[in-house]
This record gives sequence, C-alpha cells and structure tokens, in this order.
Amino acid sequence: MTGSDPAVGAGRFAPSPSGDLHIGNIRSGLLSYVRARQTGRRFLWRIEDLDRVKAGAADSQLEIFAELGVTPDEPPVVQSGRAEEYSAAIAKLAADGLVYECYCSRKDIAEAPSAPHAPPGAYPGTCRNLGEGERKSHRRRLEANNRRPALRLRADNREHRVDDVLLGRVDALVDDLVLRRGDGIFAYNLTVVVDDAASGIDEILRGDDLASSAPRQAYLAELLGLPQPGWLHVPLVLNESGQRLAKRDGAVTYQQLRSLGWAVPDFFAWTQQSLGFGDVGGRWKSVDDMISGVDFARMSTAPMVFVAPADS
Ligand code: GLU
Repeated sequence: MTGSDPAVGAGRFAPSPSGDLHIGNIRSGLLSYVRARQTGRRFLWRIEDLDRVKAGAADSQLEIFAELGVTPDEPPVVQSGRAEEYSAAIAKLAADGLVYECYCSRKDIAEAPSAPHAPPGAYPGTCRNLGEGERKSHRRRLEANNRRPALRLRADNREHRVDDVLLGRVDALVDDLVLRRGDGIFAYNLTVVVDDAASGIDEILRGDDLASSAPRQAYLAELLGLPQPGWLHVPLVLNESGQRLAKRDGAVTYQQLRSLGWAVPDFFAWTQQSLGFGDVGGRWKSVDDMISGVDFARMSTAPMVFVAPADS
C-alpha cells in the first residue's frame, strides 16, 4: 500500500515531542501501526509541538520507530505550521455564536463555586454571559498585565457519548473547553479534532488516559461539521504504584533500555508478554510478528505494570 489515497482511512500516532518515549508510549504507537496495517488503513504521524517542546525529541521519536521497523506512510503533520487551520475552525464556531472570551486565571477557576452537576475541574461558567461593558474592563485589566483572554467553546455542560472498540460506551459531560489559551496557544482538544479530520483519520487509537477527552472531541467535530472517527483506547503501562511511568521509575525510556542491553526484538518480546498474547504466533521479534499476533478482540483493558530495571 502506498498510503497516498485519501479514500483509504487512516490511523495515527501523535506523540508530543516533550521528552523521550517510554515503553508505554512505544507500546501504544506500535499498536496504532499494527491496527492500521491489520485494517488496511494508512498509518500517519503527527508532531504535536505547540507546547512543551524538547529540542531534538520529534526526530528522535521518529528514529526510534524507524529502528523498530515502523515508518509513517506520509510525511508527518507538524502542528506548529497549522495556525491558519486552527484559526479558521475557531472563526467557524464563532460565526455560530459558540465562542466567548474568558478572562479567568487558574486561581479564579479553582476558587469559583462549581456549576451544579458539573464534573470536578469543569469550567464554572464565570465569563459565559458577561455584558460588553464587563468584557471591556476585563480586557483592559489583562492588557495591563500583557495577557490576552482565552477563547472558550459555549458547550453548556452537555452529555456526549462515543463508542470505543475496547471500552464500549464512553460518556462524559462536555464543559466550556478552551479553544485558544490566554498565551495564544491553540488548545489540544481543538487542534486534535482539526488535524485528525484534515488527515482523514477515521479511527483513533491512543492511550486510555485520553478516553475521557473523546466525547469532547467528538462533540467539537460535530459542531465543525467534520466526520466522526472511531475510537480505540488501549490500556496504559504504569509503574508499580499504579502511576504513569516517569523518570524516577528507573530505566523506562527506549534509549535507557537500549543502553541496558535491550535489542530491538526484546521490545517486541516484552510487548507480546505485556499484552497477554504469549501463546499467539510464536515469540515476536519484529513488528511483522506483532501484526500477525495482536488480536484486538482479545485485548485486555487492564493496565500493565512495568517493573523498570534499575537505571545505572
Ligand atoms: N500528543 C498527545 C500525547 O502525546 C496525544 C494526543 C492524541 O493522541 O490525541 O499524549
């Protein structure tokens, strides 16, 4: 498959180039590639570089996957080059009366009484219905501090649902999420929806820490008149205390494990064991073995614990 036919659907891996990929990120990225290959989709790559960029990380992430035998079917999409598309999406929502300026600081939001039935952390609606006079004075106050208002979606805490291949029905309340932050950076929920649609992504496979964001993103796609993708959230790899893997856990990144002697086939052997597919297709040594061995219908939704070797 050459991968250039947009009529063929696509899957993707969209790591933030904010640091080194750890074994859990690698497992999710490999699963995304395997799913695309098993279902005849293109496999695309997106560099989510709007925030927290570590120099060299985007190239190093692509190199790691190339070593593992995975290359995207098209050149990666780079978010920092797509401001016009994000602005156009906000303009469309604004034309429908669905965008408002928000002048709240994080502290203001934390201290405001929350709206009835809103999930913890949901925006309390402070700036939703301000009059023009109040807006002017808030704008002036922010300008004096060199700040700009954020832009929020008028979503009014509505329930939205998606169906996930592994998790089944995922419901969440959609609050007035941020579309563009006060520092001018386009917000994750907006950029992901605009980019997935523009690339023809019709199934999103990623870690299940983002499952609760899927209803918001689906709702935003609906408002923007974009096609709805399918969803497949895979379990995360956690440390022994049940938290996300981090530096303090020892050798968890690709580079650290390589320097402790792991060869490329060892990553596939570990992935096979971690997914509980030990009895399928012999011992995996390559991504082709993984394509033959992964059975999404038999995949567990339970997180996997990685006991990191001590980082010497
Ligand atoms: N860039 C996000 C991350 O690295 C993933 C975004 C997504 O898959 O929707 O966690």
